[in-house]
Amino acid sequence: MSSKVAIIRCESYDESAVFDAVGRGLELIAGIAAFASLAEEILLKPNVLVGSAPGAAVTTHPAVFAAVARHLQAHGVHVKYGDSPGFGNPENAARKSGLGEPADRLSIPFAEFTEGRQISFPEGHLIKQFFFANGALDADGIISLPKFKTHGMARVTGAVKNQFGCIVGTRKGEFHVRMPDIDRFSQMLVDLNLALKPRLYIMDGITAMEGNGPRGGDPRQMNVILISADPVALDATMCRMMALDPALVGTNVYGQEFGLGTYEDVELLGDPIEPFIAEDYNVNRSSASTTGRGDAGPFARNMIVPKPYIVAELCTKCGTCVKVCPVEPKAVDWATSGGAKDGKPPVHTYSRCIRCYCCQEMCPERAIKVRTPLLGRLIHRG
Ligand code: SF4
Ligand code: SF4
Repeated sequence: MSSKVAIIRCESYDESAVFDAVGRGLELIAGIAAFASLAEEILLKPNVLVGSAPGAAVTTHPAVFAAVARHLQAHGVHVKYGDSPGFGNPENAARKSGLGEPADRLSIPFAEFTEGRQISFPEGHLIKQFFFANGALDADGIISLPKFKTHGMARVTGAVKNQFGCIVGTRKGEFHVRMPDIDRFSQMLVDLNLALKPRLYIMDGITAMEGNGPRGGDPRQMNVILISADPVALDATMCRMMALDPALVGTNVYGQEFGLGTYEDVELLGDPIEPFIAEDYNVNRSSASTTGRGDAGPFARNMIVPKPYIVAELCTKCGTCVKVCPVEPKAVDWATSGGAKDGKPPVHTYSRCIRCYCCQEMCPERAIKVRTPLLGRLIHRG
């Protein structure tokens, strides 16, 4: 059976325009009542990768968050919200991202995202246990509010990857270490979604991100809100708008294989997709990197898979990259560069680097870029 994705044009973050756009999309999909009942408690899960001003397009915009919350509240649904950022206090990060104002105005409490508990998931294809934030486990249901963005490791970050933030704090790093290749990491994300089963996904693609995402990329007007109950179909639609083959994204491929959704059998509703397709969207389309089945292995990892590197002139020596690097000993560190106080940026040791791109993801100065080695570029060209 095909999965429905609603495409709704919305050209600004004016709150009433976004409210109307979300309402139109919900009606096309099945109506809000199909996803939440009176007096239920629903967790809204925005993308709060870090505390970041809404204009930077790193996080889900407050106007989208407010619009969805208002639709739910109008149906007598109790709403909470929460996400666990890459590091730091979850609620502070959400407030820094502008979500605090609508949350206060609409009396939406922040859910418990600093503590969590282990759940067993025997049906998992790869992962049989997860440690989720209490806020994600205690709600009657989850509505995911992903952002339309590019990603260094996964090419895109959208509906499926948004739930990674339901894993508490630094425990996220453990998964990068245990699953250093994108195939297994994608399988883990699919299992995670099968375990949490969000009911609905409403993507903020009004101001999207391209290039060096998910934090250091450039905002790009896409003027769209996407809604679906199938996160794979929704991500595939985002890919098509980026002129990226959805089959190059691991979570699409394994999402379909494991029964989370479909990237091939998608029924589009609402506005036509063609005007949204951006052939020049800056996204990694290289077939030689960050995809393909099986572990690339150490040789391929060094010679083919894109590597993070620091642009020294942009680095403020804040040390965030060193802090978030999940491998021990660190694959980006001061030690090899003579320490922070010598005025030089940290240095990558590629033989240790598992290419999780957490350093690139979390650098506040956009000083870490990703480049494909020569061999990887040649293979792609061939
Ligand atoms: S996170 Fe970015 S700015 Fe901070 S030390 Fe690392 S490269 Fe430099
Ligand atoms: S250096 Fe960066 S990409 Fe490599 S393992 Fe550490 S955080 Fe991941």
